[in-house]
Amino acid sequence: MTPTERVGPPGFRNRAAQEGSESTGLAAVASRSECSRGRLYPEPEHEFRTAYQRDRDRVIHSRAFRRLQYKTQVFVHHEGDHYRNRLTHTLEGAQITRTIARVLGLNEDLAEAIALAHDLGHTPFGHAGERVLAEMLVSEGGFDHNRQCLRVVDLLEQRHVEYPGLNLSDETREGILKHGCNWTHPVELPELLAQRSLEAQVADAADEIAYLNHDLDDALRAELLTFEMIEDLPHLGNLIREVDAEYVSAPDPVRRSWIVRGMINGLVTDLIATSFARIEAQGLDSPDAVRRNATRAISLSDELDRARRELKSFLFDGFYNHPTVLSRTGRAEAVVEDLFRAFSKDPARLPEGVRGRCGEEGEARAIADYVAGMTDRFALSEHRKVLGSEHGVDL
Ligand code: MG
Repeated sequence: MTPTERVGPPGFRNRAAQEGSESTGLAAVASRSECSRGRLYPEPEHEFRTAYQRDRDRVIHSRAFRRLQYKTQVFVHHEGDHYRNRLTHTLEGAQITRTIARVLGLNEDLAEAIALAHDLGHTPFGHAGERVLAEMLVSEGGFDHNRQCLRVVDLLEQRHVEYPGLNLSDETREGILKHGCNWTHPVELPELLAQRSLEAQVADAADEIAYLNHDLDDALRAELLTFEMIEDLPHLGNLIREVDAEYVSAPDPVRRSWIVRGMINGLVTDLIATSFARIEAQGLDSPDAVRRNATRAISLSDELDRARRELKSFLFDGFYNHPTVLSRTGRAEAVVEDLFRAFSKDPARLPEGVRGRCGEEGEARAIADYVAGMTDRFALSEHRKVLGSEHGVDL
C-alpha cells in the first residue's frame, strides 16, 4: 500500500486510510492490522473495516456471544436483574480494555476483539461447570475455558460453508489462547512466544480489574459482604473513609459506587503509568520485541498490586467461598455432571449436529462442547428433561 492509495476524499476513512492512521498514529509496540499474520483460511480484506475490526464484529455477531447473557458470573440469572452476568462482565472488561489500549497507543480494535471474545468458552454456572468438565475429560486432555474459547471461535461457530468457526486473525486467536493447549486442536494453533501482544496483556489485566470490582459491587449489594468488613482493609477502607468524609450518611448505592469507581480508577491509572514506564525502560520497540521479552510489560506498581491482591483475597474469603454461594455451586456442579453422564450413557439424546461431531473428535469432547455451550437456564431445563422433573434442581 503506497501512501497515495490511502488518500480519499477529505474525512473519508476506508480501511486503507485507517491502516494509514494506525501506521503513523499508534505506538511502536502496537499491533498493526495491515501487518496481521492472517487467518487460517485466507480471505480478501474488507473495503472499510480493518482485520481486527472484522474480528470484533464477528465475535459480537456470534451465537456464543449472545449466550453470555444467560451465563453466570457469580449469581445465577434469575437471582436479580441488576447483578452481572457474563455478557455485562464482558462489556465492562472491554470498555476498560479500550481505555487502557487507547492511552498506551495500542491497537484498540484488537484489544477490544480479544476482550469481547475472552469468555466465549465459559461453561454454564461459572467455574463450577468448568471444574466438572475438567474432571470428566481428565483422560482426554482436560478442559479449561480459555482453550474452549478457541474451540468456539475456530470450530464450533457455524457461519460459512467453506470453513468452520469465525476465521479470526492470528493475533486475536493468540490473545484468546492464554497458555498452550494440551489436547489436540484440529486446526493450527497460533504461535505462542514468551509473552503475548500488549493488546492481549491489556485485555487480561482489564478482565481482572472488571470482575474484582463488579463482584465487590454485587456482593455488597447482596449483603453477603458489608461495608464494616471493608473498613479495616488498607485500600478499600480508605475509600470508605473518603466517601464518608465527603457526604454525611450517603446512601448505600452511592457508597458502593464511590468505592468501586475509586478502585477501578486507581488500578487503571496506575496500570497505564506503570506499563508505559516499563515499555520505555525495557526498550520495547515492536510487537515482536514484546513477545520475546522475558516479562510482561503490562503491569501494576507494587503498591497497587497490593491493593489488587487485598481485594481479591477479600472476595475469595468472603464472597466466592460464602456458604450461600458455595451451596449453589455444589448444586450447579451436580447439574453439569448429571448432564454429561446422561449424554455419555445415551448419546441418542444429543441433538443431531452434536452426534455428528462425535465421530470427528470423540464422544467425550463433543458432549463437553455441547454442555459447555449451554446457558444456565438451558442447562437447568435440559436437566429436568433428561433426568425427569422429579430430579429438577433449583439454584
Ligand atoms: Mg472474564
